[in-house]
Amino acid sequence: MLGKVLTRKRIGDRELRAIANERITILMRLARFEAYNGNMERSRRYNGLANRVAMRCKVSMPYGLDVCRDCLVSLVPGRTSRVRLGPERIVVLCKQCGSYRRIPYIKEKARMAKCQQGQGKT
Ligand SMILES: [Zn+2]
Repeated sequence: MLGKVLTRKRIGDRELRAIANERITILMRLARFEAYNGNMERSRRYNGLANRVAMRCKVSMPYGLDVCRDCLVSLVPGRTSRVRLGPERIVVLCKQCGSYRRIPYIKEKARMAKCQQGQGKT
């Protein structure tokens, strides 16, 4: 479908990316919904399609913590993922493939410490 848009009608880069972003958003929303309802295969499929659209149009996937990078299942805390706080990082476990992602929050901690120090001054 996207290919046809590219070949039949010439559209600008910005327009193309806007369309791509819209479709990626829709697909990821669907993937999340399916993951929530326990339909992992479909969730994977939707995320895979979103990924393909992103690559084709050179748009970055809005991954964040939403999608497991190993098995492409949408991560819904409590349903498909487990979220824990470590001493200096957030640990997200994908319940489907068992892979971990660790996101450090050292910066936030440092900022917090700074705020508490500077409270008297400002
Ligand atoms: Zn996974």
